[in-house]
Amino acid sequence: MEQLHEECGVFGIYSPKSCDIAKTVYYGLFALQHRGQEGAGIVVNTDGVFSSRKDLGLVNEVFSPAALAALPQGSMAVGHVRYGTTGGNSRANCQPIEVNHIKGHLALAHNGNLTNAFELRQALELKGAIFHTTSDTETIAYLITRARLTAPSIEEAVVQAMPELVGAYSLILMSSQKLIALRDPLGFRPLCYGLRPDGSYVVASESCALDAVGANFVRDIGPGEVVVIDENGLRTVKPPVSPAPKSLCVFEYIYFARPDSVIDGNSVHLARQKTGEFLAKTYPVEADLVIGAPDSGLDAALGYSHASGIPYGIGFVKNKYVGRSFIAPNQADRTNTVKIKLNPISSVVAGKRIVLVDDSIVRGTTSRQTIALLRQAGAREVHMRVAAPPFRHACFYGVDVDSPENLVANHHTPAEIAALIGADSVGYVQPEQLCHLAAQMPGICTACFTGDYPTSVPSHTEKDRFEQKLSKK
Ligand code: AMP
Repeated sequence: MEQLHEECGVFGIYSPKSCDIAKTVYYGLFALQHRGQEGAGIVVNTDGVFSSRKDLGLVNEVFSPAALAALPQGSMAVGHVRYGTTGGNSRANCQPIEVNHIKGHLALAHNGNLTNAFELRQALELKGAIFHTTSDTETIAYLITRARLTAPSIEEAVVQAMPELVGAYSLILMSSQKLIALRDPLGFRPLCYGLRPDGSYVVASESCALDAVGANFVRDIGPGEVVVIDENGLRTVKPPVSPAPKSLCVFEYIYFARPDSVIDGNSVHLARQKTGEFLAKTYPVEADLVIGAPDSGLDAALGYSHASGIPYGIGFVKNKYVGRSFIAPNQADRTNTVKIKLNPISSVVAGKRIVLVDDSIVRGTTSRQTIALLRQAGAREVHMRVAAPPFRHACFYGVDVDSPENLVANHHTPAEIAALIGADSVGYVQPEQLCHLAAQMPGICTACFTGDYPTSVPSHTEKDRFEQKLSKK
């Protein structure tokens, strides 16, 4: 079944004076590229006039030097990178979404996924609303602009619309004169802001994007908080509902975010190292070398090595140039694509008992191929350690988890999975260890591992209808 593709990265900037603002957004989106490779977009605000470019592709594919130069100077801008794995996306669904309403213009960049998107949209459509895209972001835009009919300001309209939204949303909105950033009350997806020496405010999904544009991190946007940035600076118009998120997606720490980001007070790299330490304590094994599956397993592998005392090594070289433009070999060539992307260093692994750490096993395909490469390179034993618990449930909050029927952990025990992927043993992080990845952990959502959803979620039939509708992108 087609998956929802709503993992994304958002970026916004408010500058005290007009400048070559699109370039800054470009660099910010470039730093957020790992959050979405399907599409990218930038909307620039020049004295209230919006100019935009968005398309399918990587940031540097959508924004050639000429395309970037074609965007005018401005004092505000928003940008978005969109995630998608298998087709189904269209240019129409690229963000930021732009709407013209009776009181002005609005551009929205959204990371997250509403769990009541189907109901909201159906109710609006039954009252005559027409949508141009199949994205829930347009539904949010509709609700905000509808509230703006009577609300005294755009930020007040945002505050009024929020109670209707259920699920995950980290949003950056741009009106003619204001930049508005908000995070859902449970804080599923990250969002933070920083300040540049020139007085520009920068809002981004992750702190690595602030670093990339020379902005000093100020703080995370709190759960349920709405901030406005305008000529008077930044102010909170709706305070956070709690000091820290109640349901930050733990997968941000495990896999999704960049290791050099700090999310809700915790370094992603250190949180990943901690998963490795837990694995070393829970699943010790006699081995000669710990290696990580590049790149997502490297930080946890370091943690396993530190905690176990087994030396850390570089077991694979990953070809840096395998990207979207890589031409996959056809069936007739019978070439193993994985071998082109990843090659073991046989002088390191041959004859060794290896602990291989990766961030997760979804269907088991990647681990099976990675382990086969290690065996071909002469590894004597391969013990798989997984920096996440087994995936068992659907995610309704924006992570593209495969359908439950395709998740290997729903059909096999860890011992069976070890046999399937060709490992000598398998060990997973325990779900209860996840709230100890840092000393000051926020509340986390672990629903994809435990099935404990922090909000109401669509019923199975509703989810099917919902996915069918949204996947026709
Ligand atoms: P699989 O081959 O299906 O077991 O997938 C496991 C691999 O996919 C791991 O190495 C992860 O790094 C990666 N992965 C896990 N979750 C996701 C996701 N939501 N989107 C993209 N890649 C993922």
